[in-house]
Amino acid sequence: MAARRITEIALTCALFCILLPVVARAQAHALPQEDVQAVYRRLMQKIEPIKIFDHHAHPGFGDDADVDAQTAPPQHLPLRARETNPELVVAVKALFGYPYADMSEEHLRWLGGKSAAAEKAGGTAYWNGILDKCRIEASVANRVAMASYLDPKRFRWVFFVDSFLFPFDNNQVISENPDEAVYIPLQEKVLHRYMEQAGITQLPDSFDAYLSFITRILEENQRKGGIAEKFEVAYFRSLYFADPPPEAAAGVYAKYRSGGLPSPEEYKTFQDYVFRYLVTEGGRLHLPVHLHTAVGEGDYFSLRKGNVLNLENIVKDPRYLQTTFVLIHGGYPYFRQAIWLASMKNVYIDTSEIEVLLFPSEFKQALKLWLQTYPEKITFGTDAYPFSAALGSEEGYWLGVHSARDALATALAEMVAAGEITEAKAMEFAHGYLHDNAIRLYPAASP
Ligand SMILES: [Zn+2]
Repeated sequence: MAARRITEIALTCALFCILLPVVARAQAHALPQEDVQAVYRRLMQKIEPIKIFDHHAHPGFGDDADVDAQTAPPQHLPLRARETNPELVVAVKALFGYPYADMSEEHLRWLGGKSAAAEKAGGTAYWNGILDKCRIEASVANRVAMASYLDPKRFRWVFFVDSFLFPFDNNQVISENPDEAVYIPLQEKVLHRYMEQAGITQLPDSFDAYLSFITRILEENQRKGGIAEKFEVAYFRSLYFADPPPEAAAGVYAKYRSGGLPSPEEYKTFQDYVFRYLVTEGGRLHLPVHLHTAVGEGDYFSLRKGNVLNLENIVKDPRYLQTTFVLIHGGYPYFRQAIWLASMKNVYIDTSEIEVLLFPSEFKQALKLWLQTYPEKITFGTDAYPFSAALGSEEGYWLGVHSARDALATALAEMVAAGEITEAKAMEFAHGYLHDNAIRLYPAASP
């Protein structure tokens, strides 16, 4: 008996001695406990080769009108997005062997010649080559329509649905500010395109028929390869959607279907209902709902109306548990709040735009907080877009992946050095963020 007791004590001691270093290391610290730069280098080596899924981008040539349902109005650009950013020279040297050291007008013509030649040549090699150079396995193509120069095996279509919210006389919203005067006519164009697709020249007779028209377009676009529906509605109105009864929305439809200017309240009632209909259909059809949730282009973009927290009543509504929501651009600058919406099992968050708008030193702060809270819900995107002669979709891809890899390796290295996670766990998070978390949302579209 005594011998057995002694053995037990010995075993317990041995176990305790083995576990002690593990327990001690599991205590997280505020100060780094080891050389952060050394951990960064080790992680970066393993992060570089990861094949990326870009969850949000608008690939296309600068003169392709189908790239987006809107265009950039004149605006005062933040520092990194300006043509004077020296990183853009690094990007075009890597992508095209650009022979110059600046982006002067004359030198930009050389660059324009490259994409013009590729556009003229046709085929999918040019854009596949851009993805290859950035080590992107596949990218979302959030566009009005797909282009023949985008290989459907590498580019997954995400189509726009905002235009369904604007079928009436839109003069009220157009008059709000100069940006809306640019945006809204383009939304009207998209709606007419969808009507043409459905073979109709006028809005359907009844509200029920209008909803059927919406469903028809969603189903057709899905059959054509669409993997998600996208709202950029934060550019046009508040992201707060009330919950009106169907009769109220139907009443507005009946009143204005053939003309007349709805009051802002009437239009809002109609839009609130139709938005919820599109969200519900997104769940039924397994079409995730992508929502622009951050500061947007244009000097008139309303941060207050576009605040991601306006969507709390939608993403936390148990009726929409079947719908997957992706908060595009992570609600920036409200990224601290946005990540807590991802506690819902059907809510994801994407970093596109942020890692290009900000320099990596600041983007890393957002990414680190997210990795420390809901790492399995964070997805990568670039928001690559033909923005200007110097910052096209091509450069957007390059800048996005390089910024994200650097910020990711830094955030994870700090977490490892602070004793928050192991290096093995860090790599699991890295694979999740750059590829696996988003891919899980589109099982049918995986390469
Ligand atoms: Zn975008």
